[in-house]
Amino acid sequence: MQEQTRYAIQVTDLTVAYREKPVLWDVDMEVPEANLMAIVGPNGAGKTTLLKSILGLMQPAAGQVLIYGKPYQQQRRLVGYVPQRGSVDWDFPTTVLDVVMMGRYGSLGWLKRPGKSERMKAEEALHKVGMGEYANRQISQLSGGQQQRVFLARALVQDAQVYFMDEPFQGVDAVTERAIVTLLQELRSAGKTVVVVHHDLQTVPEYFDWVMLLNVRRIACGPVEKVFTEENLRKAYGGRIGFLRSDQNHHLENMPVEGVAAVETSPTGGTLPAGNR
Ligand code: ADP
Repeated sequence: MQEQTRYAIQVTDLTVAYREKPVLWDVDMEVPEANLMAIVGPNGAGKTTLLKSILGLMQPAAGQVLIYGKPYQQQRRLVGYVPQRGSVDWDFPTTVLDVVMMGRYGSLGWLKRPGKSERMKAEEALHKVGMGEYANRQISQLSGGQQQRVFLARALVQDAQVYFMDEPFQGVDAVTERAIVTLLQELRSAGKTVVVVHHDLQTVPEYFDWVMLLNVRRIACGPVEKVFTEENLRKAYGGRIGFLRSDQNHHLENMPVEGVAAVETSPTGGTLPAGNR
């Protein structure tokens, strides 16, 4: 008997508008479990809005979101979120350990204070991301890459089944990027599903199994080897993709550094020439 695909995430007909202007139009997305998925598309394509709508942080005009076959509201506990690093006030006076422990509050309930086991889980997660030594540091004293690792540790203590991460590679150095990739692969091996808003088109085939190309509408969604094609990239990015080259497997190679990845990354972004990775 053929085994049925289990979908970790199913989004149907999602439409979202800011003040009447649609930023996501009738978007469908299906992600089978235990996959690493990238969401790519030009700036303003609606990638962050898509994550926020899935997580109930924004009210869609229409559509449905299922996590393991049930509405998100019933499945919150299965879901972890790593927001954009820039969306947080890093000057807030609190320690690294406290930020990571906040990831446990969902499972603790509001009135219980974190105890010894919460602290141990947080410390363990910090070690895992190479930040064990920094537990008592003020978060204002961290570099960009360290901030990103703290966010990942916080997501890890949530012990979720499905993770959404908004640009986890933004502004991190090559070592941190590798550490994050390894962590994502470990999550996948443990059966978790991870959806990442990603900017560096060059690394999509190497890092991810599944991809969605988005530009207000869904351009394509599926296995990287099938849908990450030059044609779909052109549809998503328009003329700006003109200098991309693909080999016979449709994987993007030899893309010039000044290409889309650079265009789509902020001036402080983490896109590096391939040789510097
Ligand atoms: P991406 O993450 O792909 O860059 P976003 O989801 O951030 O795109 O934004 C999609 C569109 O929605 C953009 O045109 C952006 O200007 C608009 N937008 C995002 N947030 C708001 C907001 N709070 N109010 C009004 N428009 C917004």
